[in-house]
Amino acid sequence: MRGRFQVFDTHAHLGRALHSGRVATKDDMLHGMDAAGIDRTLLIPFPVVEDFRREHDEIGDALRSHPDRFAGAACLNPFIPEDEFRAEVQRCRLEYGFRALKFQPQYQGLNPVSARSAFLFETALENGLVLVCHTGTGAPFALPSLFIHAARRYPNLKIVIGHAGGGIYALESVVAAQVCPNIFIELSTLTPHAVLEVLQHVGSDRLMAGSDLPESLETEISKIEGLPISDADKRRILWQTPVRVFGN
Ligand SMILES: [Zn+2]
Repeated sequence: MRGRFQVFDTHAHLGRALHSGRVATKDDMLHGMDAAGIDRTLLIPFPVVEDFRREHDEIGDALRSHPDRFAGAACLNPFIPEDEFRAEVQRCRLEYGFRALKFQPQYQGLNPVSARSAFLFETALENGLVLVCHTGTGAPFALPSLFIHAARRYPNLKIVIGHAGGGIYALESVVAAQVCPNIFIELSTLTPHAVLEVLQHVGSDRLMAGSDLPESLETEISKIEGLPISDADKRRILWQTPVRVFGN
């Protein structure tokens, strides 16, 4: 609990990143959450890792020790053999109860409108997982509009546009959410005035907050708290929409 609001951080990375050298442990995460008054966090592996199974096991361990504080997401290279990909995602669900699959086009290089990408969306759907897609850096494959194709083809799949197009493509994420009721927007990296612009077109029942990295946590959450909008909207963005999308 943070003041008057419960908070679900829907975008945070746990584990060891090969591309940035970052390391984040379960204890680091809990410490940061407690300091900022964050109730729950969706733990996502970094996009470039040495051993994705080990990263998933580390997130699974965090979920087992603190099931009320964490939810889990899988993230793995989509160019490994498809059966291996499907088996690992299924393992994450069955063994640990993961709620999401993360797709990171900037580092994973898969074209979301190509026939080759169908198995990624289908794997999420088959396992009842939400697909969280990084957007913004890594365009063109990371353009929010490229997920409209899958959202229409798989209307029962929930797709979260991570980083809302990374600022520059924020309005594209608005268009994607307007034409697809199964698209949600995660607001990290947007400036407060850009969040207000998104809110003119997309209801708070489709929006959620995320930190991405620990040094941004305080800024990302206080950015929502400080907006000149109703407490009901803040409550939906900070807690109710994520709980509805990822489950309680
Ligand atoms: Zn991310």
